[in-house]
Amino acid sequence: MGLSRERAALWHALGMGPVWRARNAAASGDAAGARSQSLALLDWDETEQAVAQCRDCPLCETRTQTVFGVGSRNASWMFIGEAPGAEEDARGEPFVGQAGRLLDNMLAAAGLGRDREGAQAVYIANVLKCRPPGNRNPQAPELAACTPFLLRQIQLLQPRIIVVMGRFAAQSLLATDASIGSLRGRVHAYDCANRRIPVIVTYHPAYLLRTLAEKSKAWDDLCLARATFAASAS
Ligand code: URA
Repeated sequence: MGLSRERAALWHALGMGPVWRARNAAASGDAAGARSQSLALLDWDETEQAVAQCRDCPLCETRTQTVFGVGSRNASWMFIGEAPGAEEDARGEPFVGQAGRLLDNMLAAAGLGRDREGAQAVYIANVLKCRPPGNRNPQAPELAACTPFLLRQIQLLQPRIIVVMGRFAAQSLLATDASIGSLRGRVHAYDCANRRIPVIVTYHPAYLLRTLAEKSKAWDDLCLARATFAASAS
């Protein structure tokens, strides 16, 4: 007996279909498109399960666990980073190391937080759900394999604003190879389900830890995000 098309797509998304295992999705744009389509059927928990079961790139061999995201699934704010580091890989939560403490402090200064509710609630996720060994930069096939999960998280969350932190998050979401310096300071848009979600580009907290002089620019970016958020309510 054959699977219904919908059920087959679901199996695909969960990495359980025979065709899915046979293909190298990370190396194929078509596979990424197919993955996005099958993910579109999944709710939050099913998407998290699909991430946990993903074996689509070599990072699955070295991860302790996947790092899906944290915060309210009703949040109006979404912050997107690059990839889990050692502490995130160990704890299964994004931004729990030194960079995470800086991020939490910056969020608190802006009246936001991963533990808050309502208009102050933030959802935090990374482009990559698995740790690159030695915290090396993400590689193109890894980004291609994992970005559909991030895009599904955005579809499910429907945030009122997105803040992308660092080059890999900015370039993945905005489909550009422009530098952070040239992207920050203005409002971009990500089109999702017939909505234009404003996107603010800022530096990655780990970069700010190494380059203290740029902290004031990151604060400017958060202020731009707050002003954009406030304007979107009116
Ligand atoms: N850096 C990131 O980009 N994400 C994390 O979760 C931690 C550090």
